[in-house]
Amino acid sequence: MIYMDHAATTPVDERVVKAMLPYLSEKYGNPSSLYGLAQEARKAMEDARAKIAGLINAKPEEIIFTSGGTESDNLALKGVALASKKKHIITSSIEHHAVLKTCEWLEKHGFKVTYLPVDRYGLVKVEDVEKAITKDTALISIMHANNEIGTIEPVEEVGKIAEEHEIYFHTDAVQSVGKIPVDVEKMNINLLSISSHKIYGPKGVGALYIRRGTRIEALQHGGGHERKLRSGTENVSGIVGFGKAAEIARQEMLSETERLSKLRDRLIEGALKIENSWLNGHPTKRLPNNAHLCFKFIEGESLILELDFNGIAAGTGSACSSRSLEPSHVLTAIGLRPEETHGSLRFTLGRSNTDKDVEQVLSVLPGIVERFRAISPFKKDFREYESALLKEHHSSGVD
Ligand SMILES: *Cc1c(COP(=O)(O)O)cnc(C)c1O
Repeated sequence: MIYMDHAATTPVDERVVKAMLPYLSEKYGNPSSLYGLAQEARKAMEDARAKIAGLINAKPEEIIFTSGGTESDNLALKGVALASKKKHIITSSIEHHAVLKTCEWLEKHGFKVTYLPVDRYGLVKVEDVEKAITKDTALISIMHANNEIGTIEPVEEVGKIAEEHEIYFHTDAVQSVGKIPVDVEKMNINLLSISSHKIYGPKGVGALYIRRGTRIEALQHGGGHERKLRSGTENVSGIVGFGKAAEIARQEMLSETERLSKLRDRLIEGALKIENSWLNGHPTKRLPNNAHLCFKFIEGESLILELDFNGIAAGTGSACSSRSLEPSHVLTAIGLRPEETHGSLRFTLGRSNTDKDVEQVLSVLPGIVERFRAISPFKKDFREYESALLKEHHSSGVD
């Protein structure tokens, strides 16, 4: 099988599995206990913390382990909101649901949220962030790289503005960490979310970077683990695996970025030879492994199934929203019409992918698209649709 859905999840690297195994068997101590067996687990956990900190230029004591990206986002947003007297949050309209749904929950509990629009490439405008700031703003949360279309946001500039206004800045960096450089110092970040299973580590473990001195409330109470911010006996084997995954990502990032971006560009170039197709997201400010394409007049879901039948695993966009028929909020935010959002296909490349995989995809994709178009209900109206579009553009003066 050719796996090209690494934005949804990644296989656990064999080196990671190997590092984890002893902590699932003989090294089972509880890191909070005092005897040798427990201290061994504690040490392994602290080693992992240092490796994860190293990947983002943080200090180990600024890393809090969580159950994944979703929990990290929840802790960052709710934790800062609850600790602040201020009641306003700024975010973007293309965030992951872990941020958007948390913001909606905060709105129900007395907070005001500004959802910034994005341009047609999915970029947040830095001026918009600054304009949205009020005396009551507690937090700015803008993702580093979008999980659907791969656009990389100007987080360093946003961080600068946040610092000038003395407002906390959180970024969901689940998709960027391990793929492109992330530096919490250089980017003026106060809080940053990471997930292990997006970087070839196990599922169910993640981290929140919290800059020293940041005022934040815990959401989960108990034995006071993780500097009282996240109680509960730590997922030691998961954390060890996460640490190993971070170490490998750091060592291999440069070479892998170069390799993957070449594959990505070949895939994009080849796929765009299919007529009535286009690339979503920014042409250059994009993740090295993301190719998000739209094919007019087809259902993305049927494309996915047919590709699967051909041994190729790709995504429609967000794994979380693909079970619903609602158009993707990201594609809607970049200005696609509902019928256009449905013909979208997301290829996200990773470690196992080779030139041959890209060739294989390009050898079957045009035929599949053509066959689906031949039977597409949209196709019948193709001419009408095109001329209607043209007329509309003329009358609205849009070029
Ligand atoms: C996957 C993802 C998450 C959620 O992480 P989990 O570890 O699966 O909870 C959050 N944000 C982004 C951008 C993601 O891609």
